[in-house]
Amino acid sequence: MMKKNVRLKVKQSYVKGLKAGYPLITEDAVQNISNVKEEGTIIELFDEKNTFLGKGYYGKQNKGRGWVLTRDSQELIDQSFFDRRVKKAIDLREAFYNNYETTAFRVFNGEGDGIGGLTIDHYNGYYVLTWYSEGIYTFKEEVVASLKSLVKVKGIYEKKRFAVKGKYIEDDDFVEGERAPSPLIVRENNIHFAVYLNEGAMVGVFLDQRDVRRTIRDQYAKGKTVLNTFSYTGAFSVAAALGGATKTTSVDLANRSRSKTQEQFSVNGLDYANHDIIVEDVFNYFKYAVRKQLSFDLVILDPPSFARSKKHTFSAGKDYPDLLAQAIQITEDNGVIVASSNCSTFGMKKFKEMIATAFNQTGGSYEILEEFQLPQDFKTNREFKEGNYLKVVFIEKLR
Ligand code: SAH
Repeated sequence: MMKKNVRLKVKQSYVKGLKAGYPLITEDAVQNISNVKEEGTIIELFDEKNTFLGKGYYGKQNKGRGWVLTRDSQELIDQSFFDRRVKKAIDLREAFYNNYETTAFRVFNGEGDGIGGLTIDHYNGYYVLTWYSEGIYTFKEEVVASLKSLVKVKGIYEKKRFAVKGKYIEDDDFVEGERAPSPLIVRENNIHFAVYLNEGAMVGVFLDQRDVRRTIRDQYAKGKTVLNTFSYTGAFSVAAALGGATKTTSVDLANRSRSKTQEQFSVNGLDYANHDIIVEDVFNYFKYAVRKQLSFDLVILDPPSFARSKKHTFSAGKDYPDLLAQAIQITEDNGVIVASSNCSTFGMKKFKEMIATAFNQTGGSYEILEEFQLPQDFKTNREFKEGNYLKVVFIEKLR
């Protein structure tokens, strides 16, 4: 497809960042961005002295207006560009492709792999492309062609995470090839997960917690009682149960979580009847647990960045310390809390300050046992801190 090229001037205060490799084109950074009308337009960025800074595409994505794709003025954004970027990403995941114990992983992680606004996940031979703007979606043909030329593809699905004329598109996510079984069973360090590639934005497992699940199973679960809050499909509960937890309790507000969690237990040969699956607001559950003087050896906290339920609005940036303080109350002495946040507005340093605040509030002491950020397949761009969103801290509650 022939693409229009538009030249834009970068405001002086943003030149340094772009030169250093900051990949996001923000509305504030460029003059006359409103002149660009068409999603997918190729944008060439220059400073005040007309020095070339980079080339990218126009695509509205939250506060972003596009992504820099190359800082080489000669590099064309054509089929061969996509081939090179996708090939490099696939080569970096060679160990994942060769690992029989793990069949679900991220193949392409947006700006971390040089194309902001696009991720590609692999599930046992099937691929899921996630498009974060209409702009990047204009390159669909090229991306699909690259992928098919580089790896064996059973089938392709896509998630459109952008609105067209204010509306999100909810249609069949299937793109081409063979349709995946529903559920599709994938493996992750020999844990099985049932995933659904055609049931909305989330497929049933968050791949970025792979190392955390393994660590819980292998090092923290044996003989322990486990409370998994914001449990979704119960992936952490299953990992804990496989690691020898005496009992797990999963708590999530969503009705679907009960059957989804039962299914994840079943596909691992575990009897879900030995575990508690509770459909409830976590904040109510905490009150109930305190009243009943329940306590757990291992408490997992993995809330969404933002959530609104009937009685509560939770915003991780503001409310995480309070959430953690409640969890501390129902954790055994020398028990462990796995505190996780995927909120991109703060980093590990601030997260640890929140942990300190929570323990200050409850008056106890603690020790940080280990910490995790994104796994290897979720490659990040050093200049784009927001992309390095995951923070997981294993905390021992001391008496
Ligand atoms: N920890 C999960 C992922 C959590 S996704 C995993 O590892 O797979 C966030 C989940 O929080 C969603 O399933 C959502 O239903 C749930 N949720 C949001 N607000 C909640 C609340 N107040 N109480 C209980 N669950 C909540």
